[in-house]
Amino acid sequence: MDDARDPSPAPETPGKDFIREILDEDRRTGKHGGKVATRFPPEPNGYLHIGHAKSICLNFGVALEYGGTCNLRFDDTNPLKEDVEYVDSIQEDVRWLGFDWDGRLFYASDYFGKLYEFGETLIRTGKAFVCDLSAEEVRKTRGTLTEPGRNSPYRDRPAEESLDLFRRMRSGEFPDGSRTLRAKIDMASPNINLRDPALFRIRKATHHRTGDAWCIYPMYDYAHAISDWIEGITHSLCTLEFEDHRPLYDWCLEALDLPSRPRQIEFARLNVTYTLLSKRKLLQLVQGGHVSGWDDPRMPTIAGLRRRGYTPEAIRDFCDRIGLAKRDSVVEVELLEHCLREDLNRRAPRFMGVLDPLRVVITNLPEGSTEELDAVNNPEDPSQGTRKVPFSRELLIERDDFREVPPPKYHRLSPGQEVRLRWGYIIRCHEVVKDAATGAIAELRCTYDPATRGGDAPGRKVKGTIHWVSAAHALPAEVRLYDRLFSTPSPDETSEGKDFLSNLNPDSLVARADCRVEPALAEKKPLFFFQLERLGYFAVDPDTAPGRLVFNRSVSLRDTWAKIERKSRERG
Ligand code: ATP
Ligand code: MG
Repeated sequence: MDDARDPSPAPETPGKDFIREILDEDRRTGKHGGKVATRFPPEPNGYLHIGHAKSICLNFGVALEYGGTCNLRFDDTNPLKEDVEYVDSIQEDVRWLGFDWDGRLFYASDYFGKLYEFGETLIRTGKAFVCDLSAEEVRKTRGTLTEPGRNSPYRDRPAEESLDLFRRMRSGEFPDGSRTLRAKIDMASPNINLRDPALFRIRKATHHRTGDAWCIYPMYDYAHAISDWIEGITHSLCTLEFEDHRPLYDWCLEALDLPSRPRQIEFARLNVTYTLLSKRKLLQLVQGGHVSGWDDPRMPTIAGLRRRGYTPEAIRDFCDRIGLAKRDSVVEVELLEHCLREDLNRRAPRFMGVLDPLRVVITNLPEGSTEELDAVNNPEDPSQGTRKVPFSRELLIERDDFREVPPPKYHRLSPGQEVRLRWGYIIRCHEVVKDAATGAIAELRCTYDPATRGGDAPGRKVKGTIHWVSAAHALPAEVRLYDRLFSTPSPDETSEGKDFLSNLNPDSLVARADCRVEPALAEKKPLFFFQLERLGYFAVDPDTAPGRLVFNRSVSLRDTWAKIERKSRERG
């Protein structure tokens, strides 16, 4: 398993990936008239995830680079699993990622009429037949990887009879599963996909777009090839699991003798450690209440990542860096986090907030005194300027930044010691006040040194700098801290008799209800991203309401990716 993981999957040729090389070559030779037309074809049966982002960046990306077009096409051929909620979310997500289909929005269901007509054509030319075998009987006669299948007894029925039956299938005369339209290819083919695959099946279900107009629906491979052809797609980019389907894709176009053939090219699916990328399993997480919804910030969906505080820039950068390969591999989730950190480090304004507040009274300040200190908004970007941070007699610091008995090399606050307040003064702790009943530390009594405003430490060494807020000015906030949704790198690997749910991390969400943040964070809109100094990058959650701030930690500050890279360099 470990060997399959490649922390920095390089494109197979440095510089250009194999798909762009094909596009270059096709352009050089004038194939497809030098045109590049791609499509992103999601099935609207779930929300898009980070794996889809790879496909979106590729399809829309090459269209932009090669002056071509990219269509958004809903592959809506299975009415039982599809829903308009998904159709809407997919459009929102593609747009949010920064891509535009320029009005080129299509639905495979738009082509049901054409697909049906082509079905009749295939029957008339002896390339398809109506088969009366049940699904079970078809399975039994399909053969195995080592044995050929057997011809259906209906394979040689006259075209006229098939045509009549196909029309009656369409008009709703027969029950679900009683008949199919099958391609007449080769029951002995070593490729099972070519053993007279079904092209149409009966399914009396209401479709979210065509309503009850149809009770037969085309199968994926057939619909996909014909849809690509109808839209004039030149390069049909899809994931490796379709490699074995390519002969069927090509057969459909050849059998109908269609001019201009799109070319299917397969690339490796994205897999990420600690992450599941399967709509079926993600749906199970949603339906089972294991997460709060498709946009739960722990989900690898685009909607979840967005709510978590991921930026389109970070996701696109990630998709760039993983490159394209012809072999499946697993990418470390740390790389995704690294891309977010890099983007936010450049762009996110800094603030201060305290997750677990401990009261500090500055005894040499008079009651009620307040002053405003200047804080730099983003040391990486001077154009973001400065802001005022209120400083007063009662402060709150992180409970963890104080130790009554400091361990060696503890540079934060402890009795008798000094620490620097970020953007503020140096303080010294003189007294620890405890709760009489519980013995817990209730308050620290400290003095500040007025000569150290802004953090200067004339003539002495103060190693530690801690964050803080002014108690009277701070705003209450709920902060949600996330860990990985799964506790194992390959959530699908389970012990016997268990499924992936057994690998859920019970501590993937810790909500801190009693945090305090500086007043500058009031009234920020959902998805506003920022850094809380020393704590990580955060985003305003849509649960935020007037008087109720809710923040998600998008990613902590510690970059574990650098370590992984170093290790892999040492290894390799
Ligand atoms: P899932 O297995 O998660 O349900 P899917 O492949 O069934 O995904 P589709 O809606 O059919 O989902 O996918 C739309 C496009 O996105 C397809 O071209 C598919 O190849 C691509 N895609 C899906 N998952 C990934 C992935 N993990 N990495 C790269 N591309 C993907
Ligand atoms: Mg699919």
